[in-house]
Amino acid sequence: YEAKKVKNSYAFFTKEMQEKNSANITIEQELRSALQKNEIYMVYQPQINADGTLHGVEALVRWKNEKLGFVSPADFIPVAEATGLILELGNYITNRLLLEIKKIYAEVGKTFQLSVNVSIVQLMENHFLKNLLEMIHKVQFDTSLLTLEVTERLPIEDLDYVLPILKSIRAEGMLLSLDDFGTGYSSLSVLTKLPINELKIDKAFVDELLYSNKDKNLVKTIINIGKNFSMDILAEGTESKEQVDKLKEYGCDIFQGYYYSKPLKKEDLIAFIRSLQC
Ligand code: C2E
Ligand code: MG
Ligand code: MG
Ligand code: MG
Repeated sequence: YEAKKVKNSYAFFTKEMQEKNSANITIEQELRSALQKNEIYMVYQPQINADGTLHGVEALVRWKNEKLGFVSPADFIPVAEATGLILELGNYITNRLLLEIKKIYAEVGKTFQLSVNVSIVQLMENHFLKNLLEMIHKVQFDTSLLTLEVTERLPIEDLDYVLPILKSIRAEGMLLSLDDFGTGYSSLSVLTKLPINELKIDKAFVDELLYSNKDKNLVKTIINIGKNFSMDILAEGTESKEQVDKLKEYGCDIFQGYYYSKPLKKEDLIAFIRSLQC
């Protein structure tokens, strides 16, 4: 009986794996030509200060493929990471972003923070910082307006390698944000070592905030820890006024989520920023 059970679950497991695998192969094939075919573009989600003013935007990649339709970055970024395509994609994204944001600054007549997601695979590539600085200098972008978001789920064994890179990024004047905070395993001692400017509280905790005392206390604790390290606290995935009000009460500084705005295309972002100003 034992053997049969194991065998069945094994068969089930491999079928699922095969399906996922073939879907990923299709994603990989299509992704290889996505840049040339101009299928990749960026959207921007506003990040709002407690006083209602604009803090900045998070740039989020979008991919619309002729065969696959819209593919979520949650599905294609892992494939891009596993195949190394993330390096080319990352360069493309950064290049495009810096130019596009400069145009938006000019159109709205002011600057604001630009947050960009950086995969651990990009971060660990030898020439990451050198390439990034080249792009920044070419378009004369102010490094202090650039925040790099690194996920808290970075493997702990990579920390020794990554830490000097993070420090160099800070030394160049860029800011660092720890994304998805609360979902990984970084202990307090890791947090004290990382030169981080901002903690992003993961949506999972924001979702439960109004219902679960455990998550409410966790969010309060995260906010207090961040404050002790002089970090900004940003709550992601805020969808309701009730959530924003609670988070404000606990001392959260910045809010990002559907309550304020979904990720927007360039023209819609410009309109959004103009509407905030009047
Ligand atoms: P993330 O960096 O944690 O981004 C937040 C995700 O939550 C985004 O999904 C955003 O659209 C979504 N979101 C924001 N507010 C709300 C809300 O109020 N409700 C709900 N239900 N969702 C909300 P998205 O754009 O699908 O991105 C998924 C993940 O893909 C990102 O998670 C990030 O890890 C990765 N990603 C996206 N763009 C890039 C990129 O340019 N480079 C890299 N390396 N990764 C990226
Ligand atoms: Mg992010
Ligand atoms: Mg996030
Ligand atoms: Mg998240």
